[in-house]
Amino acid sequence: MELLNLHRIVDVTAAEGPGLRCAVWTQGCSVRCPGCFNPQTWTTRGGTLVAWQDLAERVLAIDGIEGVTLLGGEPFDQPEPLGAFASAVRSAGLSVMTFTGNVLEDLPPSELLDATDLLVDGPFLADRPEPSRPWIGSVNQRFHFLTNRYDESIFSTPNRLELRIATDGSVELNGFATTEVLEALLEGDHR
Ligand code: SF4
Repeated sequence: MELLNLHRIVDVTAAEGPGLRCAVWTQGCSVRCPGCFNPQTWTTRGGTLVAWQDLAERVLAIDGIEGVTLLGGEPFDQPEPLGAFASAVRSAGLSVMTFTGNVLEDLPPSELLDATDLLVDGPFLADRPEPSRPWIGSVNQRFHFLTNRYDESIFSTPNRLELRIATDGSVELNGFATTEVLEALLEGDHR
């Protein structure tokens, strides 16, 4: 069995790509963009090791999702087990959206790239925030429609921010928001 190193999974979210999706954050990022919102994912230590077959079984048992989003960390730091996982869920009818901090031109051929319908590439540049396109952080990041599953119509989707409060009181945020929006939320300014 090939193991994936995972940081976090949200079974169903509307904040990480088109439609309802399962979001999978990988552990370990060799890109290390200054100002990254997820620096806790940089180290390869501290994640959860999961066989890709077990993750695929879990994801395929989720009702009502149209696809899976793979985020970092850096998914292309683990192209073999993630590629096998992505191929398996895609064969079962789900779409695959993958984020990378690398640019497409620098990615070597991989099963993960072959199994990706929608690729978002490029490092996060903290001084060049994206003003309008959903889900991404900076203007340099590009959407690549690698199959005919999606097209530019996805850009009409508004950004969403999801707040989850677990039964133990812990709070998790996902989706993308600017620092200004997060500060306004924390200060209780909901304009
Ligand atoms: S590629 Fe993603 S996870 Fe890695 S440093 Fe850049 S923004 Fe952070």
